[in-house]
Amino acid sequence: MDHHLTKIEHLGIAVKSLEEGNALYTKILGVPPYKEEAVESEGVRTSFFKAGPNKIELLEATNPESPIAKFIEKRGEGIHHVAYAVEDIKAEMARLEGEGFTLLNKEPKAGADNKWVCFLHPKGTGGTLIELCQDRR
Ligand code: ZN
Repeated sequence: MDHHLTKIEHLGIAVKSLEEGNALYTKILGVPPYKEEAVESEGVRTSFFKAGPNKIELLEATNPESPIAKFIEKRGEGIHHVAYAVEDIKAEMARLEGEGFTLLNKEPKAGADNKWVCFLHPKGTGGTLIELCQDRR
């Protein structure tokens, strides 16, 4: 079986204010977010938009230690990660670790929008934080 990364699942965009980000993206995309969800373990509030078949996730920090707060401090608002869909997250984690990439979590963790997720350290990926996501069934 050779599934690997099957598509871009969503783009994650770091925002200072979810309310302002929601208003901005509602104007850009012409539709409001279809859901909002806090992921307390990650220190984030998120909202999700659809643009045709594509998904955009906005992320706001809920505390100063949140990875989103640190990202905005260093690099400002903007694209934070590219998320790829996978069918077997554990197999892809093992494959990518075998390729020498650094996994930010050793086990899949529960992410927003009913996914199992794992992040790859951007130092090994040319500067882009990569998220793997598998549907939680
Ligand atoms: Zn994401």
